[in-house]
Amino acid sequence: MKANSRYGKILVLDDDPFILKLLSRQLVYLGHGNAVTCERASEALAHFAPDQKKLVDLVITDLQMPEMDGIEFLRNLVNRGYAGSLLLLSGEGSRILQAAARLADEQGIHLLGALEKPVDLETLRQRLEDTEPKSRALPKPVRKIYLPGQIRQAIAQGQLICLYQPKVSLADGSLAGVESLVRWRHPQDGLILPDQFISVAEDNGLMDVLTRTVLIEAMDQAARWCDAGLDLKVAVNISMDNLCSLDFPDLVMQVLRDAGVGAQYLVLEVTESRLMQEFVASLDILTRLRLKGVTLSIDDFGTGNSTLVQLRDFPFDELKIDRSFVYGAWRDLKRRAILEGSIQMARKLKMHTVAEGAEDRNDWSLLRQLGCDLAQGYFCAKPMPADQLPEWLGEWEIRRRNLL
Ligand code: C2E
Ligand code: CA
Ligand code: CA
Repeated sequence: MKANSRYGKILVLDDDPFILKLLSRQLVYLGHGNAVTCERASEALAHFAPDQKKLVDLVITDLQMPEMDGIEFLRNLVNRGYAGSLLLLSGEGSRILQAAARLADEQGIHLLGALEKPVDLETLRQRLEDTEPKSRALPKPVRKIYLPGQIRQAIAQGQLICLYQPKVSLADGSLAGVESLVRWRHPQDGLILPDQFISVAEDNGLMDVLTRTVLIEAMDQAARWCDAGLDLKVAVNISMDNLCSLDFPDLVMQVLRDAGVGAQYLVLEVTESRLMQEFVASLDILTRLRLKGVTLSIDDFGTGNSTLVQLRDFPFDELKIDRSFVYGAWRDLKRRAILEGSIQMARKLKMHTVAEGAEDRNDWSLLRQLGCDLAQGYFCAKPMPADQLPEWLGEWEIRRRNLL
């Protein structure tokens, strides 16, 4: 028995003793001699009792079991605070495995993948080596809830800043634009992400002032980039509240004039199911913005918030495909089908496509192959302060040559 397993303790659960024996031999062969096997879920759950000396940090489980099925077993693991890794086994075919995988992912379990039985040794080796085991010791950061007054004060005191994430042409790797993503530079708590304050701002009528602040900063930055010879389209996220006040287009045009930037440099990204509720006002506002030369982008396309009806009725120029259909689409038939379908549809509607959340080379290559226009994601760059963009661009110019 080799002792080089990266896992402290592995637990394998399957009601079929033959599969158990086979898997534990395969694991030993691959250097993981530290596995316990169980034929029953109840027996397996005993290994997650608080008095256990050695914590399980990888669970390999069948889905179809007579006493307690795999999904129920997963739920029990979550209830016991399990935060290790998981590998799913099934003889049920890939659709069931995918649905179960999604469920596990939703519950915050670190999924190494899914395997069809009988398990092929090489595939098992790859899955076990693919990803670093998740540390059990790291608790989830506590999410602090901020009060409307604190957010209002932060805006007034200039504590909101924008980071910018590049959007890159898949055809030639050139930098086409950036998306501005707001952050709150909190004097005590550090840099706060938008999901910790945007919804509070929305619920408390603060989006007019927040969007104005971001828009002014983003357009001033666009002007600075233009002066430096960088012709970048800068995208700003807007919220439904902005699309209820009929003078929003006038405000936008005023900000552009003050910054000395042409409307062709501004992209507004919209995600909203409520577009349909405030149909007349939002259609009026978006159509006027479009007439003035602003680019309109439908954000998070494919999720419940951005739908086909909105595409039909509103004058969008750009379709941003939600990242849940982008990363990993090269190894997931369903994501790929949706991604491919969205790109084809956009082409027929004469819209540009942006894929968000391209995380690795495989994502990048598939997007190129499918003819998507722009990629935005960690593969190219994470959101960064404006002054870091030139340095990133220098590095990207070298990297991009190998990607075409
Ligand atoms: P969004 O508009 O969909 O922005 C994309 C989010 O995905 C950003 O998160 C970005 O950092 C993240 N992201 C980009 N590439 C990748 C990737 O490869 N992998 C992964 N896992 N994530 C990636 P962020 O900055 O936390 O923003 C979250 C949301 O907050 C935005 O989603 C947007 O809806 C909202 N938001 C941000 N800034 C503003 C703003 O100024 N105004 C309004 N109304 N909403 C904003
Ligand atoms: Ca966006
Ligand atoms: Ca998005």
